[in-house]
Amino acid sequence: MSSIPENAPQHCPGTQSEDAGKASACAGCPNQNICASGEASRPDPAIELIKNRLSNVKHKILILSGKGGVGKSTVTSLLGHGLAARNANMNVGILDADICGPSQPRVLGVRGEQVHNSGSGWSPVYVTDNLSLMSIGFLLGSPDDAVIWRGPKKNGMIKQFLSEVDWGQLDYLLVDTPPGTSDEHLSAVQYLLGAGLSGAVVVTTPQEVALLDVRKEIQFCNKLHLTVLGVVENMSLFVCPNCKTRSEIFPATTGGASQMCSDLDVPLLGSLPLDPLLARCCDDGRDFLQELPNSPAVLALNDILDKIVAICEKNPGSDNASSVPSA
Ligand code: ADP
Repeated sequence: MSSIPENAPQHCPGTQSEDAGKASACAGCPNQNICASGEASRPDPAIELIKNRLSNVKHKILILSGKGGVGKSTVTSLLGHGLAARNANMNVGILDADICGPSQPRVLGVRGEQVHNSGSGWSPVYVTDNLSLMSIGFLLGSPDDAVIWRGPKKNGMIKQFLSEVDWGQLDYLLVDTPPGTSDEHLSAVQYLLGAGLSGAVVVTTPQEVALLDVRKEIQFCNKLHLTVLGVVENMSLFVCPNCKTRSEIFPATTGGASQMCSDLDVPLLGSLPLDPLLARCCDDGRDFLQELPNSPAVLALNDILDKIVAICEKNPGSDNASSVPSA
């Protein structure tokens, strides 16, 4: 979908160019005939399929991170539980599109559940009455199966996920995306842009090595005209449960997420502390919000949710499907 194919020659004019398939750089390129015929510049029919499939989803939010391990899946699951707990009449879905490390079935306590495929598509698994999940984790033979997918297969799976899950009516769909600006990350974002997105929540930790990648991620969003709803700084502080001393496990040597947000002019939604009980709950598939409703992490999360809900409700029209720009 990008105008420059993956295996393009060095001076590829791009699939949208009038010279596509005809420039001297195209000689010998395996895509030359497709480009010359104009086929490569036609929009992928999956975009329309995905748009129709997700037309009953009011707010679609991507959860992004620059790199793995910063807590993107944890934050996605917390946001999902938190949104669903706000209103029993509201339906919330989580799509675990992190196809190389699908952790939502474990974190949400539904490992080993079966997904059913009917005439209307794949049915997601219900975590609670109003929180549903679809994850590639459900399609693996065993939870320990290594998922080593090659590029085209990954993209095919993402397409299938986005176009074949029967979500029914949803108020919120949270998409746990593959980390970074990898190829599958790019295709997930581009397919979803066509279906209309409220925006992205970007998760980071405070240290510079994480922020470095997050800056790139925010620039990636800007390039695709994808609204950044805001940044969540995860594992920002550790408060000792015994002596209450506050320590910075990941020191914010460059000012942390707050400095980065003001530099890049994006909102900081809030900071979540590092809490070993939260990690334990995620490992055991228990709902941390229900177990420790007054913990600092849950209080911070509720504040973050207030902001996300306010932005989404203020801009109900923001989910208009946009044209899909090339990255
Ligand atoms: P990612 O999806 O970005 O790869 P995960 O959500 O899988 O990251 O989190 C990585 C690990 O860090 C997990 O073991 C998770 O339980 C733990 N973790 C994430 N956020 C916190 C937190 N705020 N406090 C304690 N542990 C956390």
